[in-house]
Amino acid sequence: MKVLVVGNGGREHALAWKLLQSEQVEQVVCVPGNGGTANMARCENLPLAVDDFASISQYALANDISLVVVGPEVPLAKGITDYLQAQGLMVFGPVRAGAQIEASKAWAKALMQEAGIPTAKAAVFTEAAAAKSYIKAQAVPIVVKADGLAAGKGVTVATTIEQAETAIDAIFQGQFGSAGEFVVIEECLIGQEVSVLALTDGLTIRPLLPAQDHKRVGEGDTGDNTGGMGAYSPAPIATPELMARVQTEVLEKAIATLRTKGIDYRGVLYAGLMITPEGDFQVLEFNCRFGDPETQVILPLLATPLLDLILACVQQRLGEMPPIAWHSGAAATVVAASGGYPGDYQKGKVITGIEAAAGVTVFHAGTKLNDQQQVVTDGGRVLNVTGTGENFQQAIAQAYTGLKSIQFEGIYYRRDIGYKVLSAEC
Ligand code: ATP
Repeated sequence: MKVLVVGNGGREHALAWKLLQSEQVEQVVCVPGNGGTANMARCENLPLAVDDFASISQYALANDISLVVVGPEVPLAKGITDYLQAQGLMVFGPVRAGAQIEASKAWAKALMQEAGIPTAKAAVFTEAAAAKSYIKAQAVPIVVKADGLAAGKGVTVATTIEQAETAIDAIFQGQFGSAGEFVVIEECLIGQEVSVLALTDGLTIRPLLPAQDHKRVGEGDTGDNTGGMGAYSPAPIATPELMARVQTEVLEKAIATLRTKGIDYRGVLYAGLMITPEGDFQVLEFNCRFGDPETQVILPLLATPLLDLILACVQQRLGEMPPIAWHSGAAATVVAASGGYPGDYQKGKVITGIEAAAGVTVFHAGTKLNDQQQVVTDGGRVLNVTGTGENFQQAIAQAYTGLKSIQFEGIYYRRDIGYKVLSAEC
């Protein structure tokens, strides 16, 4: 069969790579894809925008596409699944109503409260004055969030009331467009974050291996927030006992509550958790899609064919599937970024040494082919260099060894990815 993958990041390269390991998948078409998917065997890019639903649908129907797998949240929130399903296509990813779980933090918060899912205390406001008088009665630090999708930039963890007020003003003054019609003000949670991605067919929900990522640009988890500078899996902090609780206290409750709202949610439900120092947890956020860069460390460990799981979700027979099987050991990915990211950076730098990077899987993110068919940088996060091994020490060492042969002008990567798990392993 032919599968169409929507998106152009490291996540989509990893999805295409994993899907092509299934014998039934003859070809993957990435919309729009990147330099990595352009160069991968049995994979091609189609230069359409991810929210050009009419053109995607036209192409899929005319070219015998059996399945569409949607990577990013923006087309899901705009209703790509509803649109393509109405044209008779099979789509992996929730319908628009379900994608609200990521696209509106106020909506997600209300769902969590209704479902009894553990989450930080929060209040929602539609105007600045009320939000400001509320925060005056709260303790700092306090978290101020734009309601809608803001590409990771809509959240401020304010350490002073003035900072919180500035964040409230920025949101209501339109810094995040329609994402800022509401403000969610939330109690600040302390602990370690962990990502639990789960697959669901709307009835059954099965977690994948837990992962942790490094959001800050600088070593020691310092500096500005980014889309993610590296990740590893399985995150030891998410013990089997904790995962069992997440299953019943978060995932099953979320799916059941979505069902009571008439939402048949099929796809990935990703719970971003804060694990408190006492080992308890709260949900920070839900996402409606695979995480990036978590997917780049989870999929290399997945032994059950990804295609089988995706089809079981779409056809609502996940409950009939045997338990998801995993390879033993660990995976780690290090993001090679353009110098300057997450601030300003240059594009178009020629990348060399990817083929010579032995023993690693290199998932491309911000890359493209130039007119001479050379792979060049085309974004902030450029490559995800992924290592696997019997333990974190091996996986992380492999990723860094692979990185040594890769070069482009201005390359930057953190040299301490996985430092917490390495110190725990030693
Ligand atoms: P955006 O909406 O801008 O795309 P996002 O969906 O990534 O951002 P969240 O995941 O809710 O937004 O928050 C981003 C980060 O902010 C979290 O990963 C976490 O580090 C921090 N954060 C969010 N809520 C809290 C909280 N209640 N306590 C402490 N930190 C928080």
